[in-house]
Amino acid sequence: LVSREHHPERSVIEVGGVPIGPDFLTVIAGPCAVETPEQTLAAARLARAAGAALLRGGAFKPRTSPYAFQGLGEEGLKILADVRAETGMPVVTEVIDPASVDLVASYADMLQIGTRNMQNFALLQAVGAASKPVLLKRGMSSTIEEWLMAAEYIAQRGNLDIVLCERGIRTFERASRNTLDIGAVPIAQRLSHLPVIVDPSHSGGRRDLVRPLSLAAIAAGAEGLLIDVHPDPGAALCDGDQALSAPDIAELADTTARLAALL
Ligand code: PEP
Repeated sequence: LVSREHHPERSVIEVGGVPIGPDFLTVIAGPCAVETPEQTLAAARLARAAGAALLRGGAFKPRTSPYAFQGLGEEGLKILADVRAETGMPVVTEVIDPASVDLVASYADMLQIGTRNMQNFALLQAVGAASKPVLLKRGMSSTIEEWLMAAEYIAQRGNLDIVLCERGIRTFERASRNTLDIGAVPIAQRLSHLPVIVDPSHSGGRRDLVRPLSLAAIAAGAEGLLIDVHPDPGAALCDGDQALSAPDIAELADTTARLAALL
């Protein structure tokens, strides 16, 4: 269902009226985790000023350590809904288990499946039965074929509104958190009609890599970017090292707009 053999034309997916697909460069930005109403609103304003059309933010956080901040849960979803009402930005947020799909879908405009859950087949089937678009991140140790098969699990349940997100894979290199597999962008686009975007924040895990990886993603044909921003990255409860703040965002927005105009 997700292959170009089945559907030769590449698809455009709409999220709260915002298109993602060929001929668009859709920026989704916001905090890694929703922490407080003030922090989320400030991050959304930064994201909006930098040209982001959609707001990201995790309320349910799948953290490596059980002692790390796990997210605010439903309180975080309410904050996202309030910030959407204030800014007009549709909300993209992660769902981590099948039992909470209906709850998350009742607040979100797009359901994110994170790298750790790319092969959680019960979760894929549950979002496949939901009536919201899905952002499917690539598993950190998954092949492109496994990623597309995960999308197939969602599509098979009737939901074809899926956007693929390359977010870096595990390699032997430890200088960056993950290794952005830039070749995966054109390969996935050749094999599948689904839009493909890139997350430069989780790929590199470092603020200084966000701009170069974003530029590489656009040059490779990515149809969007997913970027972590925070009004005070030093105080972030999750992944502060990769979050952009106001000056970095303005610079990134300027260069991405200029590069996108050249292509
Ligand atoms: C995220 O985008 O908040 C996230 C946890 O990303 P990933 O699943 O790619 O690690």
